[in-house]
Amino acid sequence: MSEFDLIHQHFTRPTRHTNLSAGDDAALISITKGMELAVSADMLVAGTHFFADCDPYQLGWKSLAVNISDMAAMGANPRWATLAIALPEVNEPWLAEFSKGFFACADDFNVDLIGGDTTRGPLTISVQIMGEIPAGKAIKRSGAKVNDEIWISGTLGDAAMALAVMQQRFDLNSSDLNKIENALHAPQPRVKLGQALHGIASSAIDISDGLLADLGHILKSSKLGAIIRLNQVPISNIVHKNLHLKQVKNMVLAGGDDYELCFTVPSNKHAEIENLSKTLNLALSHIGHITASTDLIVHGLDNEILDIKETGFDHFN
Ligand code: ADP
Ligand code: MG
Repeated sequence: MSEFDLIHQHFTRPTRHTNLSAGDDAALISITKGMELAVSADMLVAGTHFFADCDPYQLGWKSLAVNISDMAAMGANPRWATLAIALPEVNEPWLAEFSKGFFACADDFNVDLIGGDTTRGPLTISVQIMGEIPAGKAIKRSGAKVNDEIWISGTLGDAAMALAVMQQRFDLNSSDLNKIENALHAPQPRVKLGQALHGIASSAIDISDGLLADLGHILKSSKLGAIIRLNQVPISNIVHKNLHLKQVKNMVLAGGDDYELCFTVPSNKHAEIENLSKTLNLALSHIGHITASTDLIVHGLDNEILDIKETGFDHFN
């Protein structure tokens, strides 16, 4: 199979909102009037970001989903993606499954794959995503204000726990693992939430590296601090029943790969966020507030102040 056949077979699908798609030297797109283009890229390297022998369908889904999550965090509507992929060999069944997962995610979020590059090399997947956002309305990391409330979507810690089980750093029965492993393999980017937060949220970020690290980015960009409470951080039942373990507290506070949104809102918008949670049928939890001092303070289950250095978290490094 030639490189062109491979691209045609696995990475070419009809597009929905693209003037000229893959097949020429460049793709052509038109941006809706009054919109800004939001652009972001994320690379996944075998052995670093995923296991080389992982399920190719899930890998395809996740490589696009993590990029869409960056659009969600800006409040952008994801529209177009490119895919640059290095493959050690041409493995037809693997490629078929990978592209099935990738396009399943593209279909769910109405994203057109409009081009890319395919080459031989150590398995590496690099996706660039482009989305639209009403001009001037992007939700940046730098907009948090003193006394703003800090909110989290969904639950945190499931992905980190599933990864720890796979790496035999944590023990869980298979039925419990079943309930949480989707968080790791099939993250759901919070696009609707991000777009609904225009004009409400003062800042937002998606949680890819862990709550403390990513909230830390908001604090650094906004030059402020925060107080949060572990017992208000939303977690699944499985994480909850193990929360007495320090290792599990760390999964909630510092585990990555959840792809939930962390955002700040002025306190007079509290009821609006509660309503949004109902409209979107998505749990939204108020976990703390922004402070003028630049410290990040975390209260533990008995209201004690946690030593967050122990989570491996290093505020501004
Ligand atoms: P060029 O030599 O101009 O870089 P390529 O041979 O690399 O062109 O690619 C041919 C066409 O196929 C281009 O339009 C490119 O965008 C598209 N393409 C290549 N690889 C991929 C891929 N993995 N996914 C989607 N489109 C791809
Ligand atoms: Mg090329």
